[in-house]
Amino acid sequence: MTLCLCHSGLEFDACCGRILNGAHAATPEALMRARVSAFIGGDMEFLERTLAPESKADFDRHAIEASMKGVEGLGFEVRDQEGGGEADQEGRLEYVARFKANGKPLAHHERAFFRRENGNWLYVDGEVNPKAAPRHVEKVGRNDPCSCGSGKKYKKCCGA
Ligand SMILES: [Zn+2]
Ligand SMILES: [Zn+2]
Repeated sequence: MTLCLCHSGLEFDACCGRILNGAHAATPEALMRARVSAFIGGDMEFLERTLAPESKADFDRHAIEASMKGVEGLGFEVRDQEGGGEADQEGRLEYVARFKANGKPLAHHERAFFRRENGNWLYVDGEVNPKAAPRHVEKVGRNDPCSCGSGKKYKKCCGA
């Protein structure tokens, strides 16, 4: 048996293979795994077909073909997700795909956005190396010690 290129540990035909061959991707995760498998396997047609129409103009087959040369998949890990359920029309998936490119390990961390069209999930766009959501900052009084840790009063430091 051939293990899936997305490193799910499943057999290729039972995982991304089905989707690459036209089966429905039930969730954004399934679609993204299949896109990673398509990238590694060089299935440009699948990558293009599963893009939202407005993103197709940016699809550069040659750039992708050049960047996937000598690439091997090492893993796929979901960090966070929102939407993407049965009743949802949109979904967001934060994932890390690990590759080995020309012998060097490489991690692609992305927060990707998906939309359902005619029942099929499409990749809309993504933010690479997303920043963590901004942390809640407590309000600092003018005479309180500055939150930057300088030890000075806020008004004499960053609040000046
Ligand atoms: Zn797979
Ligand atoms: Zn300060």
